[in-house]
Amino acid sequence: MNGTHALNMLLYSCTHYQENDIIYIEKGTEVMRLRNISGSREVIAGSKYVVHEPQEYKGKWKEIFGNDRPIRIEIGMGKGRFIMDLARMNPGINYVGIEKYSSVLLRGIQKMETDPLPNLYFIRMEAEEIADVFGKEEVERIYLNFSDPWPKDRHAKRRLPSREFLHRYDEILSKEGVIEFKTDNHGLFQFALGELDPAGWHLEQMTEDLHHNEEMMEGNIMTEYEERFSAMGNPIYKYVISR
Ligand code: SAH
Repeated sequence: MNGTHALNMLLYSCTHYQENDIIYIEKGTEVMRLRNISGSREVIAGSKYVVHEPQEYKGKWKEIFGNDRPIRIEIGMGKGRFIMDLARMNPGINYVGIEKYSSVLLRGIQKMETDPLPNLYFIRMEAEEIADVFGKEEVERIYLNFSDPWPKDRHAKRRLPSREFLHRYDEILSKEGVIEFKTDNHGLFQFALGELDPAGWHLEQMTEDLHHNEEMMEGNIMTEYEERFSAMGNPIYKYVISR
């Protein structure tokens, strides 16, 4: 299997994690290993589109962008098409794309090299550390798109729309801030809905079939996963939540 094929399999997989330079893909009871795309860490370390040591900018992101326009972030951006489209369409808003895998983030960096966007930066990090990177109310909107489902109960805390994560988002989101979440995973969406009340959030908008919901489809930007899964006939679930 070549690296690109392996990476595509990774992108479809349920659960994956990385240790040193090996990516582990867990599907049901099978665990597959693949080597990271060689050199991706070095490219990221040398990229001007990536914010290195992002903790140092906690509360000071306006210094990075050189203005105090609103900041919106996507957690688990994958190859970054969604956030790049948003940044291109909305030059008056600043964007930060967060991704934990170097091999995946590399794709976003390569796209930025041919189509640089002044209002977009990337961070390679684990979302668990998000409140160390952004200050209180520093973020105006959070996008979660096709987040890993972590299907085992004992991994519920790792799901990006879990109450543990909602508490972290609480710290960094402005008072009027919202979270937009899209997925094709029914179980994950049901779980996410159940987390709202205990964490003190409520629904602003919700659909169980985004692509047939005229109001919520208006201005919809497709993500890479959304394109693939909707083409397979899967309905796309979406909520917008606030406090
Ligand atoms: N948002 C993209 C990719 C979805 S796949 C799209 O819709 O097309 C989910 C992505 O989130 C993967 O690239 C995965 O590496 C990343 N991810 C999962 N958990 C993460 C975490 N805890 N921190 C940062 N990134 C994470």
